[in-house]
Order: sequence, then structure tokens, then C-alpha cells
Amino acid sequence: MPATPAWPPRSAPRLHVPGPLAEGVAVPVDGNAAHYLLSVMRMADGDAVLLFDGQSGEWAARAGSIRKRDLILTCEVQTKPLEHVPDFRLCVAPIKKGRIDLVVEKACELGVAEIQPVLTRRAVVDKLNADRLRAQMVEAAEQCGRTGLPTLSDMVPLPKLLSGWTPGRHLFFADEQGGTPMADAFAAHRGPAALLVGPEGGFTDEERAAIRACDGAVPISLGPRILRAETAAIAATACWMAANGDWQ
Ligand code: SAH
Repeated sequence: MPATPAWPPRSAPRLHVPGPLAEGVAVPVDGNAAHYLLSVMRMADGDAVLLFDGQSGEWAARAGSIRKRDLILTCEVQTKPLEHVPDFRLCVAPIKKGRIDLVVEKACELGVAEIQPVLTRRAVVDKLNADRLRAQMVEAAEQCGRTGLPTLSDMVPLPKLLSGWTPGRHLFFADEQGGTPMADAFAAHRGPAALLVGPEGGFTDEERAAIRACDGAVPISLGPRILRAETAAIAATACWMAANGDWQ
């Protein structure tokens, strides 16, 4: 059936599914997603769902073959191309569960391309649950309209991150002991960027010196107050997006 301007309705639920998606592709849905569509959203045959898979853009699909615990969604028309997000990498030390979940969720909403966990000396957490973090990103992407997910890279120790730093990418280093005011630093250094934020306990002096010695490092200050790591990560990412990202 051809898409009409009123279809899909704005209220159609959005769902991340495995791809690839294309016209006519049938996506079987069961488990939690089916429960959400059938029991919470009370979907009926012919209702619309917006699907995205992180590679094929967003597609309007129609519900069919509805049974108690599963249904089939058939892609009809592409509603968005695959997104292009700004070249911004968020390098964060692992912090406690709940707080890192918040960072990952907000990073996805804010349009971050990649999340790079970085192990530092004072980190109180040395492992992250990638599946749980990915689930946070999927939920955030479903809600905010992204057609892709940020890349969640494997954790690297800080010295490895610094030794492998690509020349040409600015490394905005959130240094709680002071640096260039953030807005000035972002205005002076456009182009591919990364933000580095430390753990609850901050960076050691040796780490701070090593980061500052890295080609591309720009130490920045987020003001006179010491922010929690998650506040620093979210606030600085938002400011970069507003100044140098796609919030124009
Ligand atoms: N315990 C440390 C603070 C750590 S705050 C201390 O008392 O010094 C966690 C991280 O958030 C820091 O490593 C830094 O990357 C960032 N951060 C917090 N407040 C900041 C500020 N005012 N300017 C720059 N970075 C800040």
C-alpha cells in the first residue's frame, strides 16, 4: 500500500530491530518488544511501527500476523535516511552503575558518534556491562529519533588511548584543576573532537601531565565548581554539540 501523508502517524512507536531493512522486508517480533507493542501499545493489524536497525535508516512498517506473543512487521516506506552525526567521541572513565548508564543514555540523545571507556588509575570500577549499556543506548535512540546507535568501544587503559591518539582530532581534556574556559576552547578548535572526563576520584598528577603532553590535547575548565563525572560529561558534550556539532 503506498504511503499517504497521514501515514505513519506521528504517534507510531519506534523500535530498534536487527537489519538490514528494505521495502517488503518482514521483521518477526517476539519477547519484550512484542509485549510492548501488543499489551502496552495495543497494536492491531495494519497499525504502523517505525523501525531502525542502525544501518538502513528508518522505515515505516505495518503490523500483521498478530498472535498472543508475536507479530510480524513489514517495511513499507523509508521515513528517514541513515543519520549523520557529528564526529565527536566521548572518552569517559568507568563510573558506578546508574551513573554510567545516565552518561550513555544522554550521550546517545545528544548525538555522540562514539563512546570510548577509558581505564584510569583512580577508577573505582574496572568493568562495564556492555550489554546493559547497549540496551540504554537502544532505548534512548528509540525515544529521541536517532537512526543509529553510538559505537560503544572496548575499554582501553589511558596510556594506550594517548599513545594511539590520531593527530588532527582535538582532545578536550576536562581538567578539574583548570584549563581554557570550555566555550573559548571549542570556538578556537573546530573539527573532529573528543572529550576526556575522569572518574569520581579525578586524574592523578601523572595522568594529567601525560594527557597534557598528548598532541591534540586542549585542557578545558568547566567552571569553578567540581562537577560529578556524569555531570561534566553530559554538560561538556551538550556545549560542544551546540558550538561545533549539529545543533545549528
Ligand atoms: N575528585 C576530584 C574531582 C573529580 S570530578 C577532585 O576533587 O578533584 C570527575 C571528573 O569530572 C574530573 O576528572 C574532570 O574530568 C571532570 N570535571 C569535574 N569538574 C570539572 C571542572 N570544573 N572543570 C573541568 N573538569 C571537571
